[in-house]
Formats: sequence, structure tokens, C-alpha cells
Amino acid sequence: MTTNTDSGFLDAAVGEAIDSLIQVEMRFASGLPRGVIHRLYDAARDWQQAPLTLLAARALLERVGKGDRVLIVTGAGAPPWLPHGETDGPLGAAALARALDLGVGAKPILVSEARNLPAIVASTEAAGLAVVTPEVFDARGACATTEVFTLGENGPADARALLERHKPTAVIFVEKGGPNKHGVFHTITGSGRSREVMASADALADAARAAGVLTIGIGDGGNEIGFGKIADKVAEIQLFGRKCACPCEGGVATVVETDILVVAAISNWGAYGVVAALAIALGRSDVLHSTADEARMLEYCVRLGAVDGILARPIMGVDGTNAASQEALIVLLHNLVANAIGHQNRPF
Ligand SMILES: [Zn+2]
Repeated sequence: MTTNTDSGFLDAAVGEAIDSLIQVEMRFASGLPRGVIHRLYDAARDWQQAPLTLLAARALLERVGKGDRVLIVTGAGAPPWLPHGETDGPLGAAALARALDLGVGAKPILVSEARNLPAIVASTEAAGLAVVTPEVFDARGACATTEVFTLGENGPADARALLERHKPTAVIFVEKGGPNKHGVFHTITGSGRSREVMASADALADAARAAGVLTIGIGDGGNEIGFGKIADKVAEIQLFGRKCACPCEGGVATVVETDILVVAAISNWGAYGVVAALAIALGRSDVLHSTADEARMLEYCVRLGAVDGILARPIMGVDGTNAASQEALIVLLHNLVANAIGHQNRPF
């Protein structure tokens, strides 16, 4: 394993700034309650005691080097309502895959249920990273490949097989649902989902942790892989935290833990924050994708069937926020990255 040294550009103050940008909540007047994100963030922060994106970036640079494989697991939403997934998740996974390839020469493998992969692949290629067959992936650099996460009773065995096959040094979960204490998956509005439609990402997280592989969870609700360490807080904070709307009555909080949890208002933004922190640590602004990339990624993602996860429409939006807001966040992160790694003498 190759170790990348932290350049020194990435410090706690910069980490705080990134974390602040990615937790701006923009909820509608009706529906889910407001004021949830900063409480989830505070709970994650109390546990981890440092800016979350900084922790994730530093851990990735410690554990992932040139040629190392990284599993990036994503894909939210389930049939019949959202047959090809949501726009939150694929773009964050694509940005991370691109950054890990470009920044450290790692080998990203995108993992999801078969139904979600077309939009994930399209987003990744729109970000400028070719998604190729396993054979080509083994033979060349500057590319990613995919793995289908099977469903039902084969899920847990397949999760372990994925680790055996690729021996990754890190597994990153972006907006990936995890089960509650009764083993039931939930939407944030409390509906239950079974392993017939949801990948057994919990088995992958647990097996990776048992094998000493770095695990990072990135989420925005508390029902995603990674929130297990603060499940009690999720139960307190979320509307359906203690009691879901399904017969299990266990609430939406997942019990699945990761080594590091990044909380953001939108999971893609959490991934972009980690990428910005990576860009700063590496002293390379090109590791963070551009606004033009972002626009193309969203367009391709929607074209392949992903929908806005709140509005359930194939529109240029993510969780009820518009395309301009996604690009605006990239603008702010890029300025932050440029200044964090730039030198300037005040001329007066
Ligand atoms: Zn339930």
C-alpha cells in the first residue's frame, strides 16, 4: 500500500469551512421538518471530534494509494416508485471515483443494484472517467468498472465475495440505505423496504470493518449506511426516527456503522466536500470536478432514468434543489480550494 502525505494545506479551519458549505438545508415549507441536518451533523461531530470531510479525506489518503481498489457503493430509491434511482448518490459517487483516480491513481469500482447502474455509469462518464469491463479495468489506468449488487438472500454472500474479489483498501457508501435494528430498510418518510429490492450494503460494511478495510459513510438522513454510531440521535431527531410507518415499528435509523461518517444536507454534497478536502490535501484543484462537469453529470444521470429524490420527477435537480445550486456549491468549493492551496501577499 502506498501512503500519500498530507500536504499541510488541509487544516481544521479549512475542514470547518467545507463542512459548513455542505450542510445548508433548503427544505420545502411542507413535508419533512426543517432544522434536521445541523442536529444530525452535530451528533456526528460530537462523536468524531473534528471536521468530517477532513477526517474522511485524511483517512483516504492514508489508506488508498496508486493501484489500490476502492468500492464506491450508491443507489437510493426502489421500485415501483423510483425504478432507476435518484440523482442523489450517483453524482457524489462519480465525483469521488474521478477524484480518487485523478488524485491518487486508485482503482474505483462502482457498486449498486442493477437497476441503478445505468445512471451511475452515465454520471461517472460525464465526469470524465471511462467505465469499462472488468478485463479492461484490470489492464489499464484512468478508468472505473462496475459490480452488480445482487438482491434477496444472495446479497450478504455476494457482499463478502466482492471484498474477496477486489481486496479494496477502502469502501465508501454514498446515500446507501442501511437496515434498522430489526433488519428492515426504510425510506426517510418511514416506509419499509426489504432485501428483495435493497442491496445488502450492511453486510458489505460489516465484512469490510471486520477485515480492517477503511469504511466511510456519507448520508443526509440517518437511514443510510454509516449512521449506526449515532442511531440513538437519529431516533430523536428524525420524524420517523423512533417509529416508522411500517409494521416493524423500529424506526428509520440504521444500525450500520462505518469508521467515518460524513453528514451533509444532500449526500452528493458530502461527497463533493470530501473531494474538495482531497484536492486541498493534494494541492490540486483539478481533483474537484468543474461546474461544467457537474451540469453534464446531472443531465446524463437524469437521462438514464434517475429522478429528484423528493419530487420524483426526471428534472435537473437533487433532493428538491435545482441545478444552479449544485453548480453554485461547486463554485464555492473551488474558490475555497484555490485559496487554501494558493499563496498571496497582501499588497498594502
Ligand atoms: Zn419499519
